[in-house]
Amino acid sequence: MSKDEAPRMHTAEHVLNGVMVARYGCGRCFSAHINPKKSKCDYNFDRPFDDADARAVEAEVNRVLSGNLPVTAVDMDRAEAAGSFDLGRLPDDAGDTLRIVRVGEFDACPCSGAHVDNTSEVGSFRIISHDVENGVLRVRFKLDAPAA
Ligand SMILES: [Zn+2]
Repeated sequence: MSKDEAPRMHTAEHVLNGVMVARYGCGRCFSAHINPKKSKCDYNFDRPFDDADARAVEAEVNRVLSGNLPVTAVDMDRAEAAGSFDLGRLPDDAGDTLRIVRVGEFDACPCSGAHVDNTSEVGSFRIISHDVENGVLRVRFKLDAPAA
């Protein structure tokens, strides 16, 4: 998971992953490049993904974000976390205590990155392009600033 200091984008990534898992039953993104202006996430994906999918995912991410969900973190024993989360992608040096980040009741995953405190700070999520190649879906996205 990226430790890039782009908390709005990174929080959007959590919600996008939650939406992707719920909608397609795919895993969370296996690779992410999170930047303040533009980000991308890669998913193992075994079916087509068209503009209608993109619009539906976008709408669902924005629906979740607009719920003004609190983003919270709790420490959890690694062994306990292993029962609830896929830890396969954690670095080996992540330690015996993991930080579990929750987006309201919508999503939870182990993460050490920087997040906003509430999804109301993220802004509007927009997929700018998507393509599937060799079983990998790449989604590129931007955020429009939240209304002041
Ligand atoms: Zn995170």
